[in-house]
Parts: sequence; C-alpha cells; structure tokens
Amino acid sequence: MIRRQFGPTGRDVAVVGMGTWYFEQADRPTAIAALRRGLDLGMTHIDTAEMYGSGGAEEIIGEAIAGRRDEVFLVSKVLPQNASRAGTRAACERSLKRLRTDRLDCYLLHWRGSHPLAETIAAFEELRREGRILSWGVSNFDAADLDEAARIAGDDHIACNQVLYHLTERGIEHAVIPWCEQHGVAVVAYSPFGHSRFPGPQTPGGRVLADIAAAHRKTARQVALAFLSRHPSVFAIPKAANIAHCEENAASGDLLLSADEIGRVDAAFPRGRRQNGLPML
Ligand code: NAP
Repeated sequence: MIRRQFGPTGRDVAVVGMGTWYFEQADRPTAIAALRRGLDLGMTHIDTAEMYGSGGAEEIIGEAIAGRRDEVFLVSKVLPQNASRAGTRAACERSLKRLRTDRLDCYLLHWRGSHPLAETIAAFEELRREGRILSWGVSNFDAADLDEAARIAGDDHIACNQVLYHLTERGIEHAVIPWCEQHGVAVVAYSPFGHSRFPGPQTPGGRVLADIAAAHRKTARQVALAFLSRHPSVFAIPKAANIAHCEENAASGDLLLSADEIGRVDAAFPRGRRQNGLPML
C-alpha cells in the first residue's frame, strides 16, 4: 500500500482508505469484518461522520477498531448545523464516545452552513490544543472557500479538503486540486467509484479500464483508484461493506499507471469544462 504525507500533519497515510457512508445498513458482523480486513491490508485511513446513520456508522467503527486504535488514521465530520463554537466541541465529544476513542486524527466540517467559518475553526483549534483532535480539515470546499479558511486559520492549519472525485466527475481538477497542492493541503476523493455509478465493462470507458487492468492483472476499479491518486496530494476512500470488495480495493494501493495509461483513461473520461460551483453528493 502506497502511503504519503497527509497535508501538513506530518503523518504518512495510506493512499487508499475506507469510507463508511451507509455502513449502518450493512450486515453488522460483515461490515466489521470488512473494516478489520481492510486494516490488515493497510487501508488504515477510516472516514466517517456523525451524519452517517445518525452516529450508527461511528458505533460500528468503534467496535471494529477496538484494540487496534493506534493503527488507524481516524477521520470524522461535524454537521454544518452543529458547527458553532460550542456545538462543534459537543459534536466531537459525541463522536469520540461512539468511536470509543480519546482522539480523532482529523476532524472535518462536512460542508459549509450558516455558522461563521471562524467559529468552527476556533473550536477546531481548541480541540486540537486539548488533544481531542490531532488535525482538522474541511469538506466540499471550493477554491474561494479554501481562501477564506486559510485567511482565518493561517497557513499550514488545514489538513485536507474532502471532495467528490471519480472518473466521470473530475471538476476538482480545475481549481481545487491546484489550490490544495499549492498550499500543501491533502485532497481526499470521496465516492471514488461514483457512489454506485461505476462505468460498466461494456461501455467504451469501461473497455479502456479493462484493457489497462488486464495488462497489470488488476481490475477496472483498481485502475480507477490508481488514476485518481496519480496526483501527489490525492487520497481515496472507497466504501466497501464486503470483505472481497475491501480486498480488491486494498490491492489497488500498489498500482502505478504509466503516462500512456493515464493518457488513455484521461481521454476515455474527459474532465470537461470548469463549471460554476463545486459538484457534491
Ligand atoms: P463509493 O465508494 O464511490 O462506492 C461505494 C459502492 O461501491 C458501494 O455500493 C460498494 O459496495 C461498492 N464497492 C466498493 N468496492 C467495490 C468493489 N471492489 N467492487 C464492486 N463494488 C464495490 O461511494 P461512497 O460511499 O459515496 O463514497 C465513499 C466514502 O466517501 C463514503 O462512504 C464516505 O465515507 C465518504 N463520502 C463523503 C462525502 C462528503 O460530503 N464528505 C460524501 C459522500 C461520501 P459494498 O458496500 O457492497 O462493498
């Protein structure tokens, strides 16, 4: 599994991690076994949020990582409606309890809401000073939002920006990835398989993926993850509540595509023109 620096945190984090949206709807023992198998295989970045199953996903993770906390780069998110100064602190404490841990490796604002960003950031900084979180970041921020956050927080305080990024939604390549790379902020690609819209094997793009995959004895999804993480700042967090899926995703973590292969995927799934606003789920 390739690991790389996670923004300014000084931590080396697995390029492919594990998402947990809708985990509470999966068969619980299977979901726990999948997370543990993923950890065994080096997918040590686990992403969750208080929103997922109203805390249900965090509880499953708490059970899965019991006794293995130190292996994990654990990330959760505060909902925008809770992201006042006091609300952020309270939400963090609830998440820590459900996750059965004393700290988060990174804590994110899930998306921008009506609470002033300065309040949320002040709470993040307090939590960081107290050791309840080791770093903080944002999610669904476009370049203008990032400018604002950097003006409030100063340089080197934003660990990551978690954003929608998959083969048929490459909008962040226009401004968000360049901003993050210029400022040393990690980019975390959510829904890297398009949530549930991965290109089928009979589509023209699917055939390109299959062809490249065959040359490496890999799968189309593994090629997709390698393509997304070709940028030095990008991490991906596919969700798999299924052990075989987890194993497949983990095995993408050592795949490097050639410049020619990257060009073929790029041509098959063009990034398109820059749109107004950031795409999000
Ligand atoms: P995704 O990871 O793009 O796709 C998940 C779907 O792909 C599931 O149906 C999963 O099935 C399937 N899958 C995974 N690995 C597979 C494999 N190897 N072969 C076949 N199918 C496979 O979608 P996502 O859950 O939307 O995004 C990933 C994570 O990003 C989320 O779980 C969440 O942690 C985060 N996220 C963040 C935001 C945000 O606003 N910050 C928004 C959306 C998502 P099984 O479960 O059956 O394995």
